[in-house]
Amino acid sequence: MELQVRIQDILEHSPLALNGQYPLGQMTQLVQAIGQQDESLHFQLELSRSQRSVFLKGELNSSLDLCCDLCLKRFDWEHEENLDLALVPQETQNVLASEITLSEQELDTIFYTGEDLDVAEILEEQLLLALPIKKVCTDSCQGLCTGCGANLNLQTCQCPPPDYSDSPFSKLLS
Ligand SMILES: [Zn+2]
Ligand SMILES: [Zn+2]
Repeated sequence: MELQVRIQDILEHSPLALNGQYPLGQMTQLVQAIGQQDESLHFQLELSRSQRSVFLKGELNSSLDLCCDLCLKRFDWEHEENLDLALVPQETQNVLASEITLSEQELDTIFYTGEDLDVAEILEEQLLLALPIKKVCTDSCQGLCTGCGANLNLQTCQCPPPDYSDSPFSKLLS
């Protein structure tokens, strides 16, 4: 599924509204990072153009299916994000920085090539950037027992507390 916008179809002085949803399962980099997804990304976007620069504003909503780093259970991560991006032609990267207008410098800038914008790819990038570094199902997640692998959120196990006496560092502790 593609979500391509021709830059010439965005009329100057008349922003283009782009609302809809896109299946997260079709975002290959995202699926690689966090596993298969069943939900869709919802977006309400507005694209405006000034010469070759395109400004993308709007909102993203999604519910991602993540795996807890501690207990390995999958959990829903609700994500809402406001976007305010400047999309400028790749050639601009080579011109003097002073030629890029101040408004473009203040926004997150993405460089594009060609005559089309791949909006799905841009949205996927934004989601990848937004993923939490530490993915935990709840703040109080107890994780798995390192001895028997029991999920300590659901049960207590019979394992003795970890024994560090054989560790070469034990002398440092005593
Ligand atoms: Zn967990
Ligand atoms: Zn255990």
